[in-house]
Amino acid sequence: MSKPLGPIPPGYETLEGELAVGGKRASALVTEAGRTPLFVYSRSHIDQRMTDLRAALPQRIGVNYAIKANPHPDVIRHLEPLVDGFDIASAGELELALSIGLDPSRISFAGPGKRDDELESAIAAGVTLNCESEGEADRALTIAQRLGRTPRIAIRVNPDFELRGSGMKMGGGAKPFGVDAARVPDLARRVIAEGAAWRGLHIFTGSQALSSHDIIETQGNVLKLAKELSDAVGVPLPKLNMGGGFGIPYFPRDKALDLPAVGAALSEMVADLPPVLARAELCLELGRFLVGEAGVYLCRVVDRKVSYGVTYLVTDGGLHHQLAASGNFGTVVRRNCPVAIASRFDAPADDEVNVVGCLCTPLDRLADQALLPRAEVGDLVAVFCAGAYGATASPSAFLGHGPAAEMLV
Ligand SMILES: *Cc1c(COP(=O)(O)O)cnc(C)c1O
Repeated sequence: MSKPLGPIPPGYETLEGELAVGGKRASALVTEAGRTPLFVYSRSHIDQRMTDLRAALPQRIGVNYAIKANPHPDVIRHLEPLVDGFDIASAGELELALSIGLDPSRISFAGPGKRDDELESAIAAGVTLNCESEGEADRALTIAQRLGRTPRIAIRVNPDFELRGSGMKMGGGAKPFGVDAARVPDLARRVIAEGAAWRGLHIFTGSQALSSHDIIETQGNVLKLAKELSDAVGVPLPKLNMGGGFGIPYFPRDKALDLPAVGAALSEMVADLPPVLARAELCLELGRFLVGEAGVYLCRVVDRKVSYGVTYLVTDGGLHHQLAASGNFGTVVRRNCPVAIASRFDAPADDEVNVVGCLCTPLDRLADQALLPRAEVGDLVAVFCAGAYGATASPSAFLGHGPAAEMLV
């Protein structure tokens, strides 16, 4: 019995029998890159997603891009005019953002364990620090004083609720992220009293949610908490980073998020904000939702072999580039991501195979018992939903094959 594959995202076409991205055939893209494995990121998919988002969201709510989802410089450059801000999570991402020329006043820096040197470069550059603890805020204030700078400080809140159905939970109970909600007002008042530029609150409750109902409920809770905390701080909130957690369908039976429903509910919420939030700048911060479905990982079949009646397509790719497809990144039960034979994209799927990578570990699986067009050595395999947390969230040094090529088309 074959196992289902995840849904191929909309917008991918067939050209001369092959998968085409950005109007180019898979084989032509590989020729252009000079090698496999290769990540291809599609401009038109990113554009379409941003268009849909802007159409659904109230104008009042901005969109930030969480760079860690895909820090390829061409992807960031492409998003620069399309989004309102950027979220970074390390001094390395700060350096990248500045080298690309992003405006520091549009950048906020979240993440636990910021070192003193990271705080220093962020303060010197003028980016907003989303402080994750009282200790971090104190270190930031001390460093800013030494530098003679006014630090831009927001507080990341550890809320007492979380995004239900979320793939990765980041709120609710003890967490390494953020300051427990009950302690936020004291810290905010102290930060303001010390002369920092108060940049408001950051409430991130989880990731990879596909239920509009859960997202709407959570965003209602986020606004309610922001109001309570701001009332307790005693000054109008300047900015609220509302998190997001918008997911994409990776697996069989996953349904795309109902974006118009989320947008309509958010419009209602922001039409009726309490006075303490009335002037606040509002933004969502999204990663995978903006770029995940825009990425395709292409690898080549190196061997076709049979073991005890089971056919294996052995590729030159694997979990060292696309860990998520192997089921070893944030999932409990392994399910198949969307996978196709890129070089025979429209051929009938009548061959049941296991698609594996080239690493010496049984974990390195790209598709189990998948019904695909018959592929031979030399054919190209496409793994979809590879635009986020692929190239830089996989153990690319493992086994020494090195990183994959990447291109934006
Ligand atoms: C990782 C991260 C994001 C992006 O998450 P996605 O699931 O890719 O949308 C947003 N905000 C924070 C604070 C994060 O850590």
